[in-house]
Amino acid sequence: MVTAITSSTALSYTPSFELLNRWVIEKQLCCYCGTCAGVCPRIVLNEKLPVLIDYCSACGNCYKHCPQTYTPVKEIEKETFPGTNKEDYLGYYEKCVLAQSTDESILSIAQNGGLVTTLLIHALETGMIDGAIVTVADKDWRPKPILARTPEEIKKAAGSKYVMSPIMLAYRTVINDPSIKKVAIVGLPCQVKAARKLQMEPIIPVENGKIELIIALFCHMNFSYEGLISETVKKTLNIDLSEVKKFDISKGKFKVFTKDGKQVELPVKELAKYSWSSCSSCTDFTGRLADISVGNAGAIDNNWNIAIVRSKKAMELLNDVVKAGKLRIAECGDALNAVLKDARKKAERREKISEITYQYFSELGVPSEEVQAYFTLLTLGGASSEELSKVLKVSAAELDSILKKLHEKGWLIKQENYYIPTRPSTVIRIEAARFNNLIKKILERESELEGIYARKFG
Ligand SMILES: Cc1cc2nc3c(=O)[nH]c(=O)nc-3n(C[C@H](O)[C@H](O)[C@H](O)COP(=O)(O)OP(=O)(O)OC[C@H]3O[C@@H](n4cnc5c(N)ncnc54)[C@H](O)[C@@H]3O)c2cc1C
Ligand code: SF4
Ligand code: SF4
Ligand code: SF4
Repeated sequence: MVTAITSSTALSYTPSFELLNRWVIEKQLCCYCGTCAGVCPRIVLNEKLPVLIDYCSACGNCYKHCPQTYTPVKEIEKETFPGTNKEDYLGYYEKCVLAQSTDESILSIAQNGGLVTTLLIHALETGMIDGAIVTVADKDWRPKPILARTPEEIKKAAGSKYVMSPIMLAYRTVINDPSIKKVAIVGLPCQVKAARKLQMEPIIPVENGKIELIIALFCHMNFSYEGLISETVKKTLNIDLSEVKKFDISKGKFKVFTKDGKQVELPVKELAKYSWSSCSSCTDFTGRLADISVGNAGAIDNNWNIAIVRSKKAMELLNDVVKAGKLRIAECGDALNAVLKDARKKAERREKISEITYQYFSELGVPSEEVQAYFTLLTLGGASSEELSKVLKVSAAELDSILKKLHEKGWLIKQENYYIPTRPSTVIRIEAARFNNLIKKILERESELEGIYARKFG
């Protein structure tokens, strides 16, 4: 029997916690940024995931602001950073510089050149912001997001914690404190996406808690507390956490620096099993939606930063800090190539589509190269024919013929040289209709075959 696909079998797409759970949390794509819990008191975070603890009114706020739901990155970039340079893998930027704090007290506690801490303190002292959302660590090196209101609190957050910190949870403090008119947020590229979404669609009156400055930290991957700290540092390396001065990841090594001057290290690839699940499909290395992105890749040494300055606001802040003598800077030169290399490598990551889904599509009789091209477009979030040809490793002529067929079937939309996949539910219905039509035609031929059978077997 052929079952018609009706709207009652279709999934509900109303933005709600249920949808967030189904499409982000259950799919292990949650990056634990804390935004959903930060904007809705009905959501709390447990050790690993957001959990709904009360009735959901389906207002859609959590879903809309989650960095793992639809985010029109290219449109936001164009709107937010007009007239700047553009590089495919790094995004838009005004300038790239090498930078180092001139303040020894910052350099001694910072992860690298102390650029992040220096920018935040200057922004606070000059009234650009009233506070900053940063991440401190408790005595067990568990990260804790806080709203820092003083230079001392900003300094307490210096140094990288290679564990997921739900930074946007601290936005609740901002919501509840009317004295915080303008805030800065420091986060990883995934968290930066959430911060930018919240800035563009605020949930509280704009005169309060305005997101004034977004600083991204470069990020290749991050880890769970249990995996990195409990299993690796405490058990495998047998290091007492109260003895740890600093952690670092550079040149493929995870390094632990102890207070008595020792250094212990492990290859980062041995820690891959502890990486956060959402990292395996994350493609943004630098934080394309930040006002300024900061890292160490390619910098002079570990005590320097490299910064990709994207917005005019961040450019003015940087110039101001340099003028005040709080930063020394140098030309970026070839250092940007190192960032570009990391960014390119990370851009190759993609969400995986299960083998069984591939198999069902091929059982429907859809040529495998067409299924491959459609699924690739889906996981890339659309692509130009050049990008697609590189990823699929097919010639331009071959790709042209595949895309033409997909276009004729209604599986994609073409916008100039850019291809956008049609919604899967529509594609599935197109194929179901084709299949039903075929079955209908076969049923019409039933009597022809039945006649032969009857004549031969009675
Ligand atoms: C998980 C992680 C992965 C990184 N991966 C890379 C990489 O692959 N390549 C690279 O070049 N750089 C990477 N960085 C960035 C680098 O470690 C430094 O953070 C950056 O160079 C800024 O240095 P700084 O001296 O200016 O920072 P500081 O002045 O010391 O300030 C550090 C800031 O980082 C924030 N912070 C610390 N831990 C976290 C966290 N877990 N989540 C959110 N915010 C946090 C603090 O709030 C603080 O404000 C990574 C950072 C993190 C946290
Ligand atoms: S009430 Fe709104 S923000 Fe809260 S869980 Fe439901 S949809 Fe999300
Ligand atoms: S990614 Fe952030 S906003 Fe989305 S579900 Fe996870 S914690 Fe919530
Ligand atoms: S790799 Fe991506 S998802 Fe993972 S912590 Fe870094 S920015 Fe977030």
